[in-house]
Amino acid sequence: MLTAEIIAIGSELLTPDRTDTNSLWLTEKLNGIGVEVKLKIVVGDDDARLEETMRDAVKRSRIVITTGGLGPTEDDITRKIAARALSRRLAYNEKVLDGIREKFVRMNRQMPEINARQAMVIEGAEVLDNPNGTAPGMYIEHENRAIALLPGPPREMRPMFENFVLPKLTTKAGDLRVARRILRVAGLGESAVDSTIAPVYTQYENPQTTILFNRSEIEIHLTAQGKTESEAELLLDGLAGQIEERLGDAIFAFRGETMEQVVGLRLAVGGFTLAVAESCTGGLIAERLTDVPGSSSYFLEGVVAYSNDAKIRSLGVPAELIEEHGAVSAQVAEAMAEGIKHRAEADFGLSVTGIAGPGGGSTEKPVGLVYIALADDAHTEHRKLMLPGDRQLIRWRASQAALDLLRRRLM
Ligand code: AMP
Ligand code: MG
Repeated sequence: MLTAEIIAIGSELLTPDRTDTNSLWLTEKLNGIGVEVKLKIVVGDDDARLEETMRDAVKRSRIVITTGGLGPTEDDITRKIAARALSRRLAYNEKVLDGIREKFVRMNRQMPEINARQAMVIEGAEVLDNPNGTAPGMYIEHENRAIALLPGPPREMRPMFENFVLPKLTTKAGDLRVARRILRVAGLGESAVDSTIAPVYTQYENPQTTILFNRSEIEIHLTAQGKTESEAELLLDGLAGQIEERLGDAIFAFRGETMEQVVGLRLAVGGFTLAVAESCTGGLIAERLTDVPGSSSYFLEGVVAYSNDAKIRSLGVPAELIEEHGAVSAQVAEAMAEGIKHRAEADFGLSVTGIAGPGGGSTEKPVGLVYIALADDAHTEHRKLMLPGDRQLIRWRASQAALDLLRRRLM
């Protein structure tokens, strides 16, 4: 399999102000043609560091792609340093210079002299036209390596890569294709997932399996290579099927879908409607559900009932219930679910009440204690959760658990 390396050039990318997104986009494109990205590097606008990095890159990687540093100013050093690292001459190219001049004419401006620098071309390089900016890119074949120098701004870099570089690399990569799939698991920890499925996935080198922890779920990333896309997909089907046999319902998504997408789809397919009553999640569940396009076909209403009074007034929770058991209790959670279901005339009522912290906890009811409840026409059920994490995480995990309770009911 061909391997690639990406170098993101620009001092701003080393600060919190700007993020290198180019390499992520490029990685996806490269994976799509069966090229694996083994390394990516962010280098500041520093002659020595960049030269060293480029020299190393062409030693170890068959494909090297740089982005950034092709601008007209003194700190744009990619052309100069790439020429040095490859021991090739850098010379003005009159045709490129005319092209840049023309762009300025079309913008009704005089070309600043510093832009002439962008017409410097490395000996033997193919010049890549940039319809969205002044900086042309370059493509160089060097000692069985493919090197592409691309501009930094994504809207200039992307079309240039797709139009000029990708076709060349596709030919080089031959027929190998890569397919990926993300399985998402709710309600189980990382080690529980791993010990359950390790006996299966360790048997395969292809597909490769990676297990990752997310805010409230475990993700299983599968990557397969095949001679065709369908061969790679078939390999994924095989392993995903075996993983499903072991984890069953705990897997809520097989194609990277979010919990709210999965729940939404099940509601839509079943022709069911939903209303939500939230306390400690403050509307997060409603927000997540309505983030999904088309949610108006099943999501009727969300109420944020934060105070006791609101729970009584908006959801019809009996005051005695709150007095007797407290607002954070199984009884109140169930009454909230039934109340919102009734009020909205929905098929399902879903509720959350809990203590997200950092204050407000007690020994009896500590921070992280959350009750979720689900009501339908037949019955009402609740779950008591003890969620770890800070306020944000507790709120997120509570929303996830509530949605998962509904998902399981819909199965
Ligand atoms: P340059 O080609 O170095 O003049 O880059 C110009 C601009 O492109 C920068 O200010 C960034 O906004 C953007 N840029 C450069 N490199 C990247 C990158 N790796 N990812 C995303 N944006 C970038
Ligand atoms: Mg720069």
